[in-house]
Amino acid sequence: MEPRNNRVDSEKERFDEKWNDILLRVKEDFELTDISFRTWLLPLKVYDVSDHVVTLLVTKGQMALNLIEKKYKDALVVAIAETMMEEYDVAFILPEQAKKNEGRRPAHDFYDGTDLDPATKQRLLEAGLNPKYTFDTFVVSDNNNLANAAALAIAENPGKTYNPFFLYGGSGLGKTHLMHSIAHYIIVNDPTKKVIYVTSENFTNDVIEALRTGNDNAGPIVALRKRYRDVDVLLIDDIQFIIGKEATQNEFFNTMNALTVVNKQVIISSDRPWKEFTSLPERLVSRFSNGLTADIQKPNYETRVAILRKKEEIENYAIPDDVIKFIATNIKSNVRELEGALNKLIAYSRLEKRDITVDSANELLKEYIDPDQKRTVTMDLILDVVSEHYNIPKDDIIGKKRNSEIVMPRQIVMYLSRDMIDVPFQSIGVFLGGRDHSTVMHGIQKVEDAMSQSDDFRRTIDIIKKKINPLN
Ligand code: ADP
Ligand code: MG
Repeated sequence: MEPRNNRVDSEKERFDEKWNDILLRVKEDFELTDISFRTWLLPLKVYDVSDHVVTLLVTKGQMALNLIEKKYKDALVVAIAETMMEEYDVAFILPEQAKKNEGRRPAHDFYDGTDLDPATKQRLLEAGLNPKYTFDTFVVSDNNNLANAAALAIAENPGKTYNPFFLYGGSGLGKTHLMHSIAHYIIVNDPTKKVIYVTSENFTNDVIEALRTGNDNAGPIVALRKRYRDVDVLLIDDIQFIIGKEATQNEFFNTMNALTVVNKQVIISSDRPWKEFTSLPERLVSRFSNGLTADIQKPNYETRVAILRKKEEIENYAIPDDVIKFIATNIKSNVRELEGALNKLIAYSRLEKRDITVDSANELLKEYIDPDQKRTVTMDLILDVVSEHYNIPKDDIIGKKRNSEIVMPRQIVMYLSRDMIDVPFQSIGVFLGGRDHSTVMHGIQKVEDAMSQSDDFRRTIDIIKKKINPLN
């Protein structure tokens, strides 16, 4: 049993395992020729993974490094995010530098944005935080309102408000982001506070390691306890991986107990609520009753748009409105996918030097748009999409008004109901506020005429159709 191999899945090992998949994804997504692929990508090796930065070793010299960075960095970031379901930045290193760095962390641009003093930066780094995850970059809405408010209250007053704080929610909904935000806030605002953020995977590794090297000697386990108990704030992410592993689970509960009795803040996240951990003894579960539980739900449409807008702002890259709406309409399951999709489009557009359109989004995002979620097209849906596209209330489309800004969208609803789902004229009329059969036929004719006269208009209709059914 070698110490290193004993560790469960180090991040680097996980990358090594997936590395070929990542490279192939770059090749496919960005349609690289075999030659470019073999020359530039295949020789890249994962040198180090830490703090959400993957450092790649470039063996072919500085010129190659510059070229690879310029042409393929964005593509690598995207392929990594898609494969690992988590975002990493990418840095490159030459063998000479790697040698110099041996035993040290590879240098990378750690904090982008605000100018923190070096000591604070160092503390963020040591606490294991991703500097991008702050309250500032977290979009608050109905789905995470309570969790965010509690997180802020705790960040301002650790140990004194809700302790322990238990945060749960499905994968990719912002638990880690919120936890890092709390830790970040405390570190930046109070240099005296000692903060540790740890994934439950790393916590498990530490416990296993301490038990293994300890044998009959209590030294390592004492050291472990000192490390995790001599803090003001302890954050443990994804606790579900610990539950059921007896030694680790006990160590965790004892640690939590030791900390909360002396008003040191404990923050835990999980992908499900406590009551679903049925194997957990009641006495352990009951310890949480003193604290606060908050959940994060899936974001609704408006929140998805807001998150995409925020991301757009952070990336400093303008995305057309209809593309934002297209993504928000079609990617619903979690924020990670939403971001992955947007990153992919941005990277594509940068690499290809082309603007992003609904068409290219539709093409590039096929794999994100789950065919199982393929929507059944109904007149309701058509009305929704048309109303949203033209920014005209549904009531007006159905109603009596006759101004042209409303009549055309109304006729488009008629046309699409016929074209996409073959609704009889009469039913279309009834649905649209009791119009008669000949009005509907006339409306459809108007749209067909306009399509044959104007390429622009035809494209608009195509876009609306894609919004209604992206896999069309
Ligand atoms: P979880 O830990 O719940 O699986 P993460 O915190 O890793 O999810 O979130 C996944 C990605 O989505 C991260 O890049 C995160 O920044 C982003 N994200 C999630 N929720 C929000 C939000 N409300 N506002 C902005 N970004 C978010
Ligand atoms: Mg997480």
